[in-house]
Amino acid sequence: MLRIHVTGVGDAFTERYHNASLCLEEPASGFRLMIDCPPAFPRVLADYRKASCTDLAVDNIDHLLLTHLHGDHCGGTEAYLYLRRFVVGKKPVLHGAREVLDGLWEGRLRGGMEELLLEGRADGPRRHMELDDYCERQVLGPGATPIGPLLVERRFTIHHIPTTAVRVTVAGQPRPALGYSADTAFDPDLIAWLSEAELIIHETNFGVHTPLHLLAELPQELRARMRLIHYPDTLDVDCAPIRCLRQGEVIEAGSAGIRA
Ligand SMILES: [Zn+2]
Repeated sequence: MLRIHVTGVGDAFTERYHNASLCLEEPASGFRLMIDCPPAFPRVLADYRKASCTDLAVDNIDHLLLTHLHGDHCGGTEAYLYLRRFVVGKKPVLHGAREVLDGLWEGRLRGGMEELLLEGRADGPRRHMELDDYCERQVLGPGATPIGPLLVERRFTIHHIPTTAVRVTVAGQPRPALGYSADTAFDPDLIAWLSEAELIIHETNFGVHTPLHLLAELPQELRARMRLIHYPDTLDVDCAPIRCLRQGEVIEAGSAGIRA
């Protein structure tokens, strides 16, 4: 069984929610894997703790998987890495496709993280830093990658920059517990791939994202196992044709079905 903590449900421009992100947990071992790291990440977790009465925090999430490098999905990574270095004192492991991780340092982090003052004076000694000084890295290749007790498969989506959907299987289980679309245009082949999982979490939004009316035309059996994320602030979550994830909720998915 896989426990899914819904830490954020909003899109890139949301004024109501935190940006879309999930924390996966394998209850038997307590192993946690964060999927994406939105801006103000410590507050995302603090708000989640309040809503859910759980203890999710930067010091007990050692693994972070980035689906892609848009700011709403990775904008909290600098704060996460700094907190892990200076407060927690333990390197986390970053996971992602090579095409995603290769751009992380140069494209998102280097400007704010490559120099550290070792003393509190401008002419004091400095240390030059690289991404590997802050974290370990594990590339998600084709096929299944073990991450703790989880097996994670990735598949590229239709998006502006390299972006991966993921399927997550708890080791020893016959089928994936979760398929998560990440950001994507409507892609029937991707949905078929995700639908091997017990639970499908799919994005929806305007523009080059997946229109809700196309998801609403999917077979009932699929829609019953689907939950929406990355939806616009204007979506009426009580009347949507597919159930919307609610920020702060916990879902369990596995061979016994889906339990909210
Ligand atoms: Zn995106």
